Amino acid sequence: MSAGSAVCTTCPRHCAVAPGAMGACRARTNVDGAVVPLGYDHVTSLAVDPIEKKPIARWKGGSTVLSLGSYGCNLRCPWCQNHGISQVGEGEVPWRRVSPQEIAALAVRLNHEDPRMVGVAYTYNEPLVRWEYVRDCARLVHDVGLSNVLVSAGCVSAEVVQTVAPLIDAANIDLKVFRSKTYQSLGGDLAAVQETIRLLAATPTCHLEVTTLVVPGINDTDEEMDELSSWLVSVDPGIVLHVSRFFPHWRMQDRGPTSIARVYELADVARRNLAHVYTGNC
Ligand code: SF4
Repeated sequence: MSAGSAVCTTCPRHCAVAPGAMGACRARTNVDGAVVPLGYDHVTSLAVDPIEKKPIARWKGGSTVLSLGSYGCNLRCPWCQNHGISQVGEGEVPWRRVSPQEIAALAVRLNHEDPRMVGVAYTYNEPLVRWEYVRDCARLVHDVGLSNVLVSAGCVSAEVVQTVAPLIDAANIDLKVFRSKTYQSLGGDLAAVQETIRLLAATPTCHLEVTTLVVPGINDTDEEMDELSSWLVSVDPGIVLHVSRFFPHWRMQDRGPTSIARVYELADVARRNLAHVYTGNC
């Protein structure tokens, strides 16, 4: 570790970040020996989306949420659908500063225009690499009586999850695979994601759903889906699982989309364990 470096504890990568340098996520830096968000309030994407698009299937159906994202991610999934913002840094994508106060005020205005707009979603790139911004926005959004939705890969420390969980009303966590080695190849950590799911499931005020994208040759066996869904039911039988169809993106162009029949078969495998299983992208 070079002189002046500080270790970031936000996620299991535990980057040693030199003064002024970036962590692997391109979203945190070292200022005066403390690892802090790089671009705390930098927003690249802001849109009103249906809640079903997050996807959230069993919470406030028919509602919409003001959805915001920034740049950066701590994972390196080669099929990332949002690589244009998740796999780039500050100088590589347009952004603008939007303070938590502005987010809350915009949410209030949109809610007054259409009461079906129920709150704010932290989404698109990995929101928890700037968990301080999520925390600050979420507090203000609750203060004005609206809801918070988190869409995350969940590969962060338990401390980060425990900080934001009481502020989150609904979450969708990506459980990308159920093999530790495959998670490592993505830059992630299965145990950390499992702990995130456990902590959110144990938060009574948070509705929890999980998404698994079925990628041919990566995680598309009956055995893996059975193990994944068995583990989810052991955490909470009420967890909703989305089994989603892969399409070639970014650095994974060497295979075609998952067959729709295979997505349906794997959803049926999951249904042997879980009561609420949905298919996506079919
Ligand atoms: S959040 Fe970013 S800087 Fe911190 S450990 Fe993870 S990848 Fe590294």
